[in-house]
Amino acid sequence: MSGFFSRLKQGLARSTQKLNAALTHRHLDEAALEELEEALIAADLGPAVAGRVIDGFRKSRFGKDVTPAEIQEALAAEIARVLEPVAIPFEPDFTHKPHVCLVVGVNGVGKTTTIGKMARWFGGQGKSVVMVAGDTFRAAAVEQLQVWGERTNAPVIAGKPGADPAGLAFEGIKRAREQGADIVFIDTAGRLHNKGALMEELAKIIRVIRKFDETAPHSVLLVLDATTGQNALEQVRVFREMVSVTGLIVTKLDGSARGGIVVALAEATGLPVHLVGVGEQVEDLRAFSAAEYARGLVG
Ligand code: GDP
Repeated sequence: MSGFFSRLKQGLARSTQKLNAALTHRHLDEAALEELEEALIAADLGPAVAGRVIDGFRKSRFGKDVTPAEIQEALAAEIARVLEPVAIPFEPDFTHKPHVCLVVGVNGVGKTTTIGKMARWFGGQGKSVVMVAGDTFRAAAVEQLQVWGERTNAPVIAGKPGADPAGLAFEGIKRAREQGADIVFIDTAGRLHNKGALMEELAKIIRVIRKFDETAPHSVLLVLDATTGQNALEQVRVFREMVSVTGLIVTKLDGSARGGIVVALAEATGLPVHLVGVGEQVEDLRAFSAAEYARGLVG
């Protein structure tokens, strides 16, 4: 059993208490299917996907006597089908020197933590990383990133609270170029309550980094917190109005009662789900795997 599976399974098990209750059925009649559908909706798959999964299931198994294990297997296969197209690894294009990765998302979703984890991830692959503490609005975010920098041995470009994030991004890329770094992660503020200001801030960061490289940012990762459930869908919509999001990272799947949100996200957005966060430690980042996730979700 891989680390991804065991860690994630503990979190996802909470999503599926209802599903486990529904799995006692042995004869798949309409009532049993309805109960399963409700359980999937409760796990945050959303009505559309839950309906599709159950429809697929109805076609293949309706009226049959099935064991709970068979139900689990068939449900996992249906869910994996939805997830497969979006389970795309995060493979930065390192022909850019440096690859510039902008990390966006609402406050508290885990942006800063995820940047620290990615610094370790790519550092471990022999890549040299620079981090930019661009969430200058939240003093703690700057300190937090500095701690991650010490842990991962990667330089952190930071300013005083309230410093201009675009200026820091500029410094970060300059530094990365000077030292021949492979990738720069730019942390950003997540003040969604002040959408206009945030939009301007992100636009300015992008303008400034394009002075170095007009193809930058080369990736824009939107971080989402699985525990916010369906709200994550709205966050994707709002952030896509502001920036060209290239992929998603879903955090807090270790404690989530709503792991199904990843399935809803896959269906609604079609955006790649690159990585998932399964804890607060530096190693708690996993590549997203459709089959393993689907299997974890159905228990
Ligand atoms: P930011 O405001 O988006 O930069 O969010 P932070 O990186 O500061 O994270 C907010 C909180 O979420 C912190 O307490 C993190 O330790 C925690 N956190 C981040 N990712 C995960 C995760 O995958 N699992 C758990 N359980 N907590 C996480």
